[in-house]
Amino acid sequence: MARKPLLEFTEKGIYCDQGKFYIDPWKPVDDAVITHAHADHAYWGHKHYLAHHLSREVLYYRLGEIQLQTVEYGERVMKNGVSVTLYPAGHVIGSAQIRVEYKGEIWVVSGDYKTEDDGISTPFEPVRCHHFISECTFGMPVYQWKPQAQIFEDVNNWWRSNVNNGLATVIVGYSLGKAQRILQNLDLSIGKVYTHGVIENTNEALRRNGVILNPTHRITIDTPKDEVRKGIILAPPSSVGTPWMRKFQPYSFGYCSGWMAIRGAKRRRAADRGFILSDHADWDGLISAIDATGCEKVYLTHGYTASFTRYLNEIGFDAHEVHTLYGDDEGAPSQPPPDGEEFYDAFASNKNIENQKVSPAGGDLEGAGGLFL
Ligand SMILES: [Zn+2]
Ligand SMILES: [Zn+2]
Repeated sequence: MARKPLLEFTEKGIYCDQGKFYIDPWKPVDDAVITHAHADHAYWGHKHYLAHHLSREVLYYRLGEIQLQTVEYGERVMKNGVSVTLYPAGHVIGSAQIRVEYKGEIWVVSGDYKTEDDGISTPFEPVRCHHFISECTFGMPVYQWKPQAQIFEDVNNWWRSNVNNGLATVIVGYSLGKAQRILQNLDLSIGKVYTHGVIENTNEALRRNGVILNPTHRITIDTPKDEVRKGIILAPPSSVGTPWMRKFQPYSFGYCSGWMAIRGAKRRRAADRGFILSDHADWDGLISAIDATGCEKVYLTHGYTASFTRYLNEIGFDAHEVHTLYGDDEGAPSQPPPDGEEFYDAFASNKNIENQKVSPAGGDLEGAGGLFL
């Protein structure tokens, strides 16, 4: 009889019965290993957390007093004979893939990842494994990212022309990851960078963690509007269309997101400019990352899971769609699902998001034994 798989998909999250821990659980558990500090992965209410040390201050800022153990990439932690090691996921600062090994059987949980080096997150590293649990947020061929240098050239040119035309510049990206990536790639000879409070709080947490970021100026009621108009305003998605944003009129408003690759997305966000910039892997990135693991089975957790799973099976992978918190497959290009980070920014004050619809994974997780690399 096949022994129980090392990792299984339960209604609380990805579970290791042998090690008695969960990975990115969405219901309160005793022992949680966290891939990264985004709200759809790092929930409030667990007894013990394990995460990368660069996630520490953001986790404290977002979740309050938690019992947290932090590790470096490559540092092994033993849990009841199961070894747990974090590897860079390249998604945001401190993001990790979780490698789990027991008696020679290796599983890797990707969390969210991207394969392009963004210059601020530790670059993604493929990890060999038997079983790879992967996201596929942008698992459609329409999603092909340009090198970020090209995108930031567009951003800086747009900012410069706004200054010349007397327009304020508002650039929107979610507060952990995108905001810092934008900040580090702006041409600061054009002007200063002003920040919305949600973003500045995250910047401060990262700086407490030793991350060196370009200088920013928090916008307060005392900040002179004329000054702000000459600079660039970094704002979270939740600020779009609010009185806070309207007070900078006239402005040009740019939105940075992978969803900007599809027609209509810019219009739906009422943006003047859409910049195709994502912290998730694009189509080629996903396939190359999955291939590089050498895995025997791949499980797709969120994104265009159904069509991407079908495609992977067609090209020879043994791919399985699993239903996680994000398992509703409404990822058709005309209706992109909201991403978790934006969800967080929209509900930044609500730390315990209840009543999420959860459908546990279907079967087909048998027979994990007897594998070899
Ligand atoms: Zn994320
Ligand atoms: Zn996510």
